[in-house]
Amino acid sequence: MIIIVSNNNSREDGRSFDELRSFKIESSVLKRADGSAYLEMGGNKILAAVYGPRESFIKRLLKSNTGVIKCRYNMAPFSVDDRKRPGPDRRSTEISKITAEALRPALLLENFPNSMIDISIEVIEAEGGTRCAGITAAAVALADAGIPMKDIVVACAAGKVNDEIVLDLSEKEDKEGQADVPIAIMPRTNEITLLQSDGILTEDEFRQAVDLAIKGCHEISKIQKIALKKRYGESL
Ligand code: UDP
Repeated sequence: MIIIVSNNNSREDGRSFDELRSFKIESSVLKRADGSAYLEMGGNKILAAVYGPRESFIKRLLKSNTGVIKCRYNMAPFSVDDRKRPGPDRRSTEISKITAEALRPALLLENFPNSMIDISIEVIEAEGGTRCAGITAAAVALADAGIPMKDIVVACAAGKVNDEIVLDLSEKEDKEGQADVPIAIMPRTNEITLLQSDGILTEDEFRQAVDLAIKGCHEISKIQKIALKKRYGESL
């Protein structure tokens, strides 16, 4: 197979600088969870499951004036090239925390005192950008669980590769690129609920990356809504 890589406006995988990887989202894929979603984005395959709001046996985590959310991001041992050691590590603990923080602003938790919403994100196959893909899938699973929300949070990264600002970095671009800026937003208002930055960018490049990631979020948001409408019809 001959792969032609043009120098202008094209990337190693043939995408243009502002192009997302191909992706699909399906909701209600699990029977036992209250809400669930399956997402593929490039080589990422991710399942998200939501339970609650419900009482928790871990009483010390509950609050009498509001609901709480607990999130667990996990990478399956077979999800990456070198088998990943099972169980939590620093990276998964960080991603679990930032995922909960990215989703929390959309949830009307004050309506659910003394209860907990449990979110599980399982990365079955990973290929760069799993934190964003996990947030996007979890937001669909929350909507699928019927949990009242201000908006459906959506996430996407942009970054710098070969001195160009590009959308939705693949694993290779993430590893070999110069910077990565994952972002989550509430698309109705463009309120940013997650903003991380890894690598070095000028102020102007940083702004370009943020704008491009927000543009990507809006594209993904449309597919989140289609996935939910397929399941629940236009009543959504
Ligand atoms: N990765 C891996 N092994 C690990 C952790 C990550 O191969 O133990 C890969 C995986 O494809 C992941 C990518 O490296 O998507 C980038 O990881 P990062 O921590 O930047 O998070 P992500 O881009 O997935 O949000």
